[in-house]
Amino acid sequence: VSIAIGMGTCGIGNGADLLYQAFEAQIQERKLAIHLGKVGCFGFCAEEPLVNIHLEGLPLLILNRVKVSDIPKIFTWIEKKSFPANRVLCKVSSWDHLTGTTSYGTGFPSIREWDELPFFHRQKKIVLRDAGLINPESIEEFRNVGGYDAFLKVLHSYSPQQVIAEIKDSKLRGRGGAGFPTGLKWELMAKQAAPRKFLICNVDEGDPGAYMNRNEMESDPHMLIEGMLIGAYAMGAAEGIVYVRAEYPLAVQRLNIAVAQAQAASMLGNGIDGTDFNFDLKVVEGAGAFVCGEETALIASIEGKGGRPRIKPPFPAQSGYLGFPTDINNMETWCNIAAIIAKGSSWFKETGTEKSPGTKVFSLVGKIKNTGLVELPLGEKLTTLIYEIGGGAADPDKKIKAVQSGGPSGGCIPVGKFDTPIDYESLVSLGSIMGSGGMVVMDQDNCMVDVARYFIEFTHNESCGKCVPCREGLAQELALLDKIATGKGTLNDMLLLEELAHSICDSALCGLGQSAPNPVLTTLRYFKNEYEQHINLQY
Ligand code: SF4
Repeated sequence: VSIAIGMGTCGIGNGADLLYQAFEAQIQERKLAIHLGKVGCFGFCAEEPLVNIHLEGLPLLILNRVKVSDIPKIFTWIEKKSFPANRVLCKVSSWDHLTGTTSYGTGFPSIREWDELPFFHRQKKIVLRDAGLINPESIEEFRNVGGYDAFLKVLHSYSPQQVIAEIKDSKLRGRGGAGFPTGLKWELMAKQAAPRKFLICNVDEGDPGAYMNRNEMESDPHMLIEGMLIGAYAMGAAEGIVYVRAEYPLAVQRLNIAVAQAQAASMLGNGIDGTDFNFDLKVVEGAGAFVCGEETALIASIEGKGGRPRIKPPFPAQSGYLGFPTDINNMETWCNIAAIIAKGSSWFKETGTEKSPGTKVFSLVGKIKNTGLVELPLGEKLTTLIYEIGGGAADPDKKIKAVQSGGPSGGCIPVGKFDTPIDYESLVSLGSIMGSGGMVVMDQDNCMVDVARYFIEFTHNESCGKCVPCREGLAQELALLDKIATGKGTLNDMLLLEELAHSICDSALCGLGQSAPNPVLTTLRYFKNEYEQHINLQY
């Protein structure tokens, strides 16, 4: 028998550490032959703390909202092998992959079969395949589910060009927001001849309401290292950096443990697995500036300079960290790599749409019943995400009004547009963006002028101040929104707000400024009536 507690930040925030201690104490007291472990987050954050129970001959059972007072009952159920259905959140079958009998080559990814719980049954887990199921602090458990097999396969039997061809053919697009083709980026980088080349993983996840990358790193940090190793081999880079928010202490801690374990297992360092391939990885903690998610600002920050973007070109692939060619990919992009290599680009393209294959992880938050992390095939509709998976409004007496996708750089999508497929192009056509995957749901009580004001205040505070359109333009946008929100605005202010928003988009230096007005533009587009209600119409 084994029991594991979900120990992501969401679990711990709901008492998982106390629960772990209570299980530990009672197992010792009762002298039970039960193995107690820790796993990451299984994704259903609204139901934390989650507890995995593995009994021989049964699928893995996951119990939700477990309290310390439930522990004696759980031991009784284990003894009888009989759990009341209403206490089991879901079952995961083929748990034997953790015993080492299944690897990428045979079992992945069909090892997951959930009960018909609506939160899970439309999901397809590629990036989150082992989140909440393995111990993130154990390289052995990662190896047992096929971890590092894809890298070793590449190292011993692929040329770098073959790896790049596979990633290009998969049509994987950057999961950090812009959706640039990853294989193309790698190809450009591989062509650079330089004495040093760097890879960077961008985990500067700063969007309000977004925590996909934090969860990925807290739950399965070796998955990132494996993706970067494959990228390093393909692009000819020997040095890598993971740039992660210092506000993610648990993620940083688990990543550092994983790096040390990978070094000890000779997966990092010199002469990896008897070859002449070398790769070192270091972890750099960001100081919390939102703008450092922009790649040139991020590089400046790692170099110890102020985190301010610069004009491109030169692009980082030409001149990046310390002036050397540098490839930057988002955490989730790296986390797709091993699965693509293990299962092939054709397999990857079976999921998602033609232009946007694969899955995307979303953090579903706000006024929604089922908050949590959701990994969906790209092209699924917003209505599936919000109603079928999310369960609709948190308050059943309220109606959902809109969802903000893409964080402060994204836009507010009204409920009338929820039939739209979630892919890069469709979200842009609505005036929003995919962004990194934050989905903040709003209901009828949310004033959309206030929502726009909130996001503009955020980007105004986070602007680095280097260029005038962003520094001054967002200050003026905020002043206009203040005026309108407090009932002192005029129709002319509303026109000015829109005109200025377009000017900022057209003339700001970096992505932060260019996309900051999106919440204003989308709320004006879809909720103009709410602005008008704030305005004294006698003008
Ligand atoms: Fe800085 Fe804003 Fe200009 Fe970007 S757009 S460089 S964040 S001032």
